Amino acid sequence: MMRAELPALPYALEALEPHYDATTVALHHGKHHLAYVNGLNAALDKLEAARAAGDFAAVKALSREVAFHGGGHLLHTLFWTNMKPGGGGEPGGRLAAAMERCFGSASAAVAQLRAAANAVEGSGWGVLAADPAGELVVLQVEKHQNQLLPGFSPILALDVWEHAYYLKYQNRRADWVDAFLAHLVNWEDVERRFTALGR
Ligand code: MN
Repeated sequence: MMRAELPALPYALEALEPHYDATTVALHHGKHHLAYVNGLNAALDKLEAARAAGDFAAVKALSREVAFHGGGHLLHTLFWTNMKPGGGGEPGGRLAAAMERCFGSASAAVAQLRAAANAVEGSGWGVLAADPAGELVVLQVEKHQNQLLPGFSPILALDVWEHAYYLKYQNRRADWVDAFLAHLVNWEDVERRFTALGR
């Protein structure tokens, strides 16, 4: 049976300073992300019990729990690996070539991602994803599970929930988005994920 686990961070809590403070990273990973892992596992346990009892009265609510907490777990897992100390710079290689093909230029792709992240209504994510044919799109995900498309694989996830940035950036979401893109994003990881799709 599927079980979720909190992945270890690929760097120290303070490694992304000063652009992403250690306190926010510690809370974000150790409390918020963990809550999605636990929420997903709790829903899966309840579904297992429902199957054993042959009682699916709660299947609608539990399916929503799986989508919300599962989406939160998977997008956060992507988010952590999409950052590195000394990140930023420009996308390269196959990723940049695909961005030029799909958006006109790499800078246009990044500009659309920035705008989508800044314009999320409420809590959500700016996401770069590849469709089944390997074409890139920017998705604007609300909460953790809405406005994703079946068959589209996220390769970059930028968290714009307030818990992701409020301690350091307060209400200035755009400053957090700018810091992520200028100093944190690990384009090599994004390109590696794109290549690994084999599309
Ligand atoms: Mn988050």
